Amino acid sequence: MVLIESEKYIPIKEVFRLEEGSKASIRGWVYRYREFGDKAFIIVRDSSGIIQTVVEKKSDIIPELEKIGIEASLTLSGIVREDKRAPGGKEIRVEALKVVGPSHKFPITKDASPEFLLDVRHLWLRSRRMNAILKIRDTVFKAVHEYFRSQGYYEVHCPMFITAAVEGGATLFELDYVGKKRKVYLTQSSQFYLEALIFSLEKVYTIAPSFRAEKSRTRRHLTEFWHAEAEAAWTDMNDIIKVEEGLVTYVVKKALEERLEELEFLKRNIEMLENVKPPFYRISYDEAIEILKRKGVNVKWGEDLGADEERVLTMQFDKPIVLYGFPEEVKAFYHKNDPQRPEVTLAEDVLAPEGYGEIIGGGERISDEQELVNKILRFGLRPEDYEWYLDLRRYGSVPHSGFGLGMDRLVMWIAGLPHIVEAIPFPRTVRRVYP
Ligand code: ATP
Ligand code: MG
Repeated sequence: MVLIESEKYIPIKEVFRLEEGSKASIRGWVYRYREFGDKAFIIVRDSSGIIQTVVEKKSDIIPELEKIGIEASLTLSGIVREDKRAPGGKEIRVEALKVVGPSHKFPITKDASPEFLLDVRHLWLRSRRMNAILKIRDTVFKAVHEYFRSQGYYEVHCPMFITAAVEGGATLFELDYVGKKRKVYLTQSSQFYLEALIFSLEKVYTIAPSFRAEKSRTRRHLTEFWHAEAEAAWTDMNDIIKVEEGLVTYVVKKALEERLEELEFLKRNIEMLENVKPPFYRISYDEAIEILKRKGVNVKWGEDLGADEERVLTMQFDKPIVLYGFPEEVKAFYHKNDPQRPEVTLAEDVLAPEGYGEIIGGGERISDEQELVNKILRFGLRPEDYEWYLDLRRYGSVPHSGFGLGMDRLVMWIAGLPHIVEAIPFPRTVRRVYP
């Protein structure tokens, strides 16, 4: 192994700022390799970018070149030259080169199928595509934290082992918990815990995994996804919609500011992202049903809207939609019913445009104990399973609202990806828990 003399090396991106004739030392991995006459052309990548390097096949370098295959790691130094044919217009004429970790027969070739790329995701993460997506994801996570903190929300952390369903039993993962004395599940949402925390901190948020045994295979469901959730005391549905709009707008703005290069590399339609400004369109569930019927979709009032319906609906709009006023039966039991119209709830979803659909689900919660008990019973659930949750309505209850935002879906939409598995480094789906 060579010595790690970090101060000597510069990120590849910075080489492009150096003048012709400067000396540069870089380290990274072989992205492409080809020999031509007495020269070898090595395109090297690091986390910041790629650059072409040219090596004269002189005797002292030949033994090193023999260790090179795609993805071999190396360090090199040389002189920066302008060359129009090189990507980015500059290249390095190599004077010294050392292979650090040889690589032979890297398994990913040009014609790899999407399924194979998932099998070797641990290696595919090195691709320029995944590198761009992961940088966008980093910006999205950072921006969500920044936004909540700028609005006075406290970050909190909730358990992943839980004992009662938040989102209904069908997607619960049951665990073989120590001693098996009672049923334990993986959390589907941190919402109930956030509701408890507002009585201390008033405005709280968390970003954590949620787990759902999703049986339907769609392009937007993972079994383990990253969930940004917020809850605020003294708020109604309209107050919380404003927070959601502010959050989504801020994240998109940050992505455009910090990750334009990556978005362009992914061929994202930038104009559609520039449209994302509040207020978003407000569409009632009733109106949505009418729009869908006019578009020839076979839906009836009272039915839930799935990915297909949302695709048709959101294709009609050039920025996100807030869809509100869902029938009681299509939303979870904790949603407050509209006092003016008890058959619908004060629940709302934010749908991303361009066919992407739901990225946020939120609304006002029931704050009255009896109203909550009645609804739990109406939903065929057992109030005794929700004892501590009912306590929150017994000791100084307040009106409150909150929402959950799927971080992977947000990344998928912002980056313009065709499938959610591309939005997270190691996707978990019903069919995949490897690598
Ligand atoms: P869907 O109808 O698409 O299954 P949902 O109504 O079950 O969504 P919520 O329970 O409201 O979703 O969860 C809040 C947010 O969490 C959703 O708006 C979505 O962005 C995200 N989300 C929910 N389930 C998943 C999943 N399986 N994979 C990725 N993200 C998810
Ligand atoms: Mg769901």
